[in-house]
Amino acid sequence: MQDLVDGVKKFQRDAFPERSALFRRLAAGQNPQALFIACSDSRVVPELITQCEPGELFVIRNAGNIVPPYGPEPGGVSATIEYAVVALGVSDVVICGHSDCGAMTAIATDADLSAMPAVRRWLGYADAAKAINRAHGHTCVHNGVNAMVHDNVIAQLVNIRTHPCVALALSQGRLSLHGWVYDIGSGKVGAYDGDARRFVSLADHPHACASGSADARDGSP
Ligand code: ZN
Repeated sequence: MQDLVDGVKKFQRDAFPERSALFRRLAAGQNPQALFIACSDSRVVPELITQCEPGELFVIRNAGNIVPPYGPEPGGVSATIEYAVVALGVSDVVICGHSDCGAMTAIATDADLSAMPAVRRWLGYADAAKAINRAHGHTCVHNGVNAMVHDNVIAQLVNIRTHPCVALALSQGRLSLHGWVYDIGSGKVGAYDGDARRFVSLADHPHACASGSADARDGSP
C-alpha cells in the first residue's frame, strides 16, 4: 500500500505540474472520444496501450472484458455504456481482450470455479464464445485459450449491440465498434475486421472496424 501512497506524492510533485493546463481544462468537464472496455488484468492499461491522456478514454474494466446483453435489470456495465453513448456521445467503442487472460483461461480449461460463484455466473456471459471454443476441440491449451480470447471479443461485440442506445447510434452511423486483442508479450494489437470476419494486425490495418461498412449508413430509408 505504501507504494500507492508514494505514487500519489510523486504524481502531485511531478506528473500533475507537467499537465497543469490539461487538468485545469478537465476540471470543467470531459469530452472523451471513445469508450474502452477492457479486462481488469493489471497488465492491461488502456491509456498506456493507446497513449491517451486523461480525458480521452471513458473506461469500463471487469473480469474478461465482458458486456452483459441488455436486459430487464441493467447493471453497472449497461449504465456506463448508456452514459458514454447518450450523455458523452462517444464515436467509438473498443472491446479489448488480451493474451493470457485468467477469465478466458478458466472458461477454456473448464476450471473448477465452485469457490468463486460470482465469477462463475459472470463468465456465463461468454457462453456463446465458450460453445464455439468447445466445438473447435483445441488439443493445445495455449491455442484453446488464445482462440477463447478472440471468440470472447466477438461474442461481446454481439452482446453490446443488444443495448438500445448502441443499436440506435449504429443505425444512425454515429458510432463504430472495434474488437481488439492485446498481446502482453509483444505489445501487438489484433483488430477484428467485421467485413472480412477475422482478426487482422491493427498496425497493418489501422481502419479495421468490427461494425463493418454495413453499419456505416445514415439511417435514411
Ligand atoms: Zn483478462
